[in-house]
Amino acid sequence: MPLSIMAYADNFASERREMVRTQLQARGITHQATLQAMENVPRHLYVPSAQRRFAYQDRPLPIGYGQTISQPYIVGYMTEIINPTGGQRILEIGTGSGYQAAVLAEIVDEVYTIEIIEELGKTARELLNKEYDNVFVKIADGYYGWEEHAPFDAIVVTAAAEHIPSPLVEQLKDGGKMIIPIGSPFRVQQLMLVEKQGDDYTTRTLMPVRFVPFKRE
Ligand code: SAH
Repeated sequence: MPLSIMAYADNFASERREMVRTQLQARGITHQATLQAMENVPRHLYVPSAQRRFAYQDRPLPIGYGQTISQPYIVGYMTEIINPTGGQRILEIGTGSGYQAAVLAEIVDEVYTIEIIEELGKTARELLNKEYDNVFVKIADGYYGWEEHAPFDAIVVTAAAEHIPSPLVEQLKDGGKMIIPIGSPFRVQQLMLVEKQGDDYTTRTLMPVRFVPFKRE
């Protein structure tokens, strides 16, 4: 389908509204701040220009370096489940395009995000800094979290890990939530919700997903 001149003229606002209605609300996402944030953030700016016309489609897209930006529904689902609100501080592991960080930055006070691939981290940082003064990007192995800014109200991990990284659980607030895909990079993984309670935590399996692998340095 050719990219219409109208779509450029209105900054894809109608595509974005349509995405929120048909991909998020129709599948049960009701968290108002999440819906509003995803209606606000220009997803097409977070994908390579060759992918721009596909930015609002119901699927993940390649962002270079073998990585992907998640399908809009998955971003919406992971955002809703941690129940973000103003005043919070959130850590994301796997900045990638920066899109998930932007969605979170629309809602909470501070977003800390870590990317292991330098080029992706730098591009995302530049893009995010233009729009937000509450997003901080670090280029590192996210396995160890970001201790200086801990504890976090929530942690969103967007690469599939073989197990739950203990440094991340440690950096969660008491009562904090972490959403993380767990499993082999070569198979379907399970999206898990981790909830910290005191020194302990509970886990709940939410749904099967497919994410790029959590790399280790
Ligand atoms: N949240 C991203 C999704 C990007 S895909 C978005 O909205 O676009 C997952 C990203 O996690 C990739 O960019 C990959 O390089 C990164 N990643 C993988 N292992 C990592 C690690 N150990 N620490 C930090 N980032 C990691």
